[in-house]
Amino acid sequence: MKSFRLMGIPLQSVTQAEALSLVRSWLDTPAAQHSIYTPNPEILWNARRDEAVRQALLAGDLLVPDGIGIVLAARLQGEKEVHRLPGIELAEAIIRQLQPRLFLLGARPGVARRAGTKMEEWGAEVVGARHGYFSASEVDQVAHEVNQSHAQILLVALGSPRQEAFLGVMRSRLRVPVTMVVGGAFDVWAGDKRRAPRPVRQLGIEWVWRTLHEPRRLLRLVALVGFVWTMAFRRGHNDADPAGEAKRNRE
Ligand code: UDP
Repeated sequence: MKSFRLMGIPLQSVTQAEALSLVRSWLDTPAAQHSIYTPNPEILWNARRDEAVRQALLAGDLLVPDGIGIVLAARLQGEKEVHRLPGIELAEAIIRQLQPRLFLLGARPGVARRAGTKMEEWGAEVVGARHGYFSASEVDQVAHEVNQSHAQILLVALGSPRQEAFLGVMRSRLRVPVTMVVGGAFDVWAGDKRRAPRPVRQLGIEWVWRTLHEPRRLLRLVALVGFVWTMAFRRGHNDADPAGEAKRNRE
């Protein structure tokens, strides 16, 4: 397992098999809690300014490069051995191979349940599901439901940066051995959305396909431009602390 840092956040380059054996070992020691995040350029860019997201990522145990942008940025920094592991593929492998008890949190009402049917076909047991449109006053109830379910893995599909911020704040209150963010995966597993065709995914440009199909994602490209600019023209910049950055700029 290879570790590297981007924008002050430590990430790991792992094969799917390595990630699976790590998660298996975590499930064997359920007293400890572990979190999996799947950063892409947009998430790392937002983490510079969003303290809740930054703290969540810093406290994470496995941060796998979800986007080709992360791999390219790592290469710019001289890390040749970094490869991509899309979060949705890692999550599916975990479900199929480890067949855990799952709590599904997120997506529109009804979607998690339908996605759960697919996961049960893959061999998992779905012990709880809840949609992702809850208010701040309902968070305690959500945590209670998750804790009562005795799930081994909590999958959080609230979209970024909400899912990272949610886990960052809630992690210590959740009694689940493994938590993992999965973005829009429930929509895909429920059959409501399609992933990009395989050749597009292999090129690492699934985000282009998603932007074309969901134009509301266009705004997200601002973060991508910021990330690329920082990585390409400020090589060596590896600090997630904006205060530190401002100080350096004054010097
Ligand atoms: N979502 C949610 N609660 C919210 C906002 C979004 O549960 O308050 C869900 C949404 O229904 C979708 C997922 O989060 O299932 C976001 O999917 P997206 O593809 O946008 O994921 P991202 O690219 O942000 O990881």
